[in-house]
Amino acid sequence: MNQIFEKLQPYLEKEMAFSTALTLMDWDMETLAPKEAVDYTSKAVGVLSQERFSSIINPEVKKILEQLEGEKGLNCFECAVVKKLKKEYKKTEKISKEEMREFSELTSKALHAWQKAKKAKDFSIYAPYLEKIIVFKKKFAEQGKEEGQTLYDVLLDDYEEEFDEKVLDEFFSKLKEKIVPLLKKIEKQEDIEDSFLFFDYDEEKQEEFNRWLAEYIGFCFDRGVIAQSEHPFTTALHNHDVRITTHYYKNNLASALLSTIHEGGHALYEMGVDDEFTQSIVGGGASCGMHESQSRFFENMIGRSVPFWKPIYGKLKGIFPKQLENVGLEKFVKALNKVKADFIRTEADELTYCLHIMVRYELEKQMINEEIDVKELPKLWNEKYKEYLGIEPKDDTEGILQDIHWAMGSIGYFPSYALGNAFAAQIYHQMKKDLPIEELLEKEEISKIVDYLREHIHQYGASKDAREMLKDLTKEEFNPDYYIAYLEEKFKGVYGID
Ligand code: ZN
Repeated sequence: MNQIFEKLQPYLEKEMAFSTALTLMDWDMETLAPKEAVDYTSKAVGVLSQERFSSIINPEVKKILEQLEGEKGLNCFECAVVKKLKKEYKKTEKISKEEMREFSELTSKALHAWQKAKKAKDFSIYAPYLEKIIVFKKKFAEQGKEEGQTLYDVLLDDYEEEFDEKVLDEFFSKLKEKIVPLLKKIEKQEDIEDSFLFFDYDEEKQEEFNRWLAEYIGFCFDRGVIAQSEHPFTTALHNHDVRITTHYYKNNLASALLSTIHEGGHALYEMGVDDEFTQSIVGGGASCGMHESQSRFFENMIGRSVPFWKPIYGKLKGIFPKQLENVGLEKFVKALNKVKADFIRTEADELTYCLHIMVRYELEKQMINEEIDVKELPKLWNEKYKEYLGIEPKDDTEGILQDIHWAMGSIGYFPSYALGNAFAAQIYHQMKKDLPIEELLEKEEISKIVDYLREHIHQYGASKDAREMLKDLTKEEFNPDYYIAYLEEKFKGVYGID
């Protein structure tokens, strides 16, 4: 280890320990903790978060970073850590402690107001808080802005480095041009029969199958656990303790199946990070978008395909013989791919999902780059839903109040979901050249697909960024055309459109 870098070690270890504790507390609050624990436990979380922050953002670490400036003898892990630390410094140095505290108080009040507003279906309860959040975010963006950047670019960079408005404008305008008309065509086709997915499915039996399914795709129960929570998610303490959740609905078989595969994709990423990187600040995924690419790849490209279900559909049928009587393999998979424009993003099908993100992207851009009357947002939201998805929310809960992100102060996050899909399509395109995917799935050899992802993506943790990974793997810069071509080919096929 480089001698100067070695001086960072105690600070990094402290940060890692606080992070691990915080992750565990967060997991506990989402899964097992009693309902009334939140307000009390949050106090401890606040103190620990502050400690985590100051364990790496402090004058001593800053001095070591200065000494490391121009240092040649750093290995790839050390370089990645230094790069990440520098970024953290750049982001936080300009914001005063006072501002930070004010902002964190504001978001906790905003979250509360958002919950209340959502319950009451009334945006006006939450609007004054969102207005203040926007003011803060603009101020922060102004402070971190570099030449040539828009304010929104600065916020986007927090979630997906180098994917600015210019890249995203091009991406979303292509989507708009191709996917909106495709959706209109699909809506004229005959509806896909999927009523059998909503029969009664015993939750315990669902759990039994889903646990088996997770293991089938490569989730290792010696290094991971599955619990239940309101909304499925993945978290990891390190590569030997990866946790996912799912939610079983008695009258919806596909929901848990697809969310197990989705979170399983996230989990495989975390389990595949190299030992050298895990338990460090570069121990997670490369970016939000790259993480999402792995979950979407498993959910959509694998989990909604005939070759994947071919060897295992019989097992599912064996558990639910009555409900799936007369439902053949093709019919089952077709139902998993049904397209229907609806209001809620998290329940959206594969095709319309990106349109939900497009609405949010356009609104965020306006919120940050232009002067906007926050009270107008629900109206703008509804107009965009009408234009892109052909439907209009009947109230704010079904519309603008559905997502938690803005209330948490996360503006610029949404595009990474759509980018994840696009990364997945570009990776898939390359993988098809390198591996006989369908054959492997039919022969129950998913592990070869996981190994491929591990080799090209997972092992690196966040030591490489998303752009670098895509380029190293596909020998090409980010190219949204693969995603659009994939969607068009797939859904024209599903709906028999020429
Ligand atoms: Zn995800």
